[in-house]
Amino acid sequence: MEKDKKNKKSKKDNKMDLEKIKKAVTLLLEGIGEDPGRPGLLKTPERVAKMYEEIFSGLETKKDSEEILNPIEGESHDEMVLLKDIPFYSVCEHHLLPFFGRAHIAYIPDGRIVGLSDLAKALEYFAKRPQVQERLTSQLADMIMSAIKPKGAMVIIDAEHLCMNMRGIKKPGSRTVTSAVRGIFRSRATTREEMLALVGKKEF
Ligand code: ZN
Repeated sequence: MEKDKKNKKSKKDNKMDLEKIKKAVTLLLEGIGEDPGRPGLLKTPERVAKMYEEIFSGLETKKDSEEILNPIEGESHDEMVLLKDIPFYSVCEHHLLPFFGRAHIAYIPDGRIVGLSDLAKALEYFAKRPQVQERLTSQLADMIMSAIKPKGAMVIIDAEHLCMNMRGIKKPGSRTVTSAVRGIFRSRATTREEMLALVGKKEF
């Protein structure tokens, strides 16, 4: 009973444990053979904890899609809406290193539209947590589908992963492109092609 209550609370409001992060960073430094007590590193655990609070802020509050995307009803616009080249930063959950790039978000309204800044907010919400690019892409498309109920949605994310580039697995500057295609974008090739042309991609 007590446990259920706790789970419920942590689901809605997941406050970060900064002290735990600090201890972990100290251990990490020791683990790699560093001296956490040397002057340059003294404040590092605290800095990292503060930084994590910011870059993982998407975890702190579980939000329903309607809290991020506020649909505006009664709109007659039924052509493609595209927000392109939105910069974002996220963290790869496999290596805890950044991946970053640009997102392109499109949908075709069906009686409802949404503020463009809301789309950017949704991207931030999903990006600011340990992530994989594929999931980030589909979570965005799915949120748009459920909150705006458009005729279709399409998200393309083009990103550089430091876990690949820093470790020399791939050449620096190589990029990963992912897409999530829903509704009319999936069923109609010309709609998909229109989106690709607008973001300047022949294919992906
Ligand atoms: Zn990685």
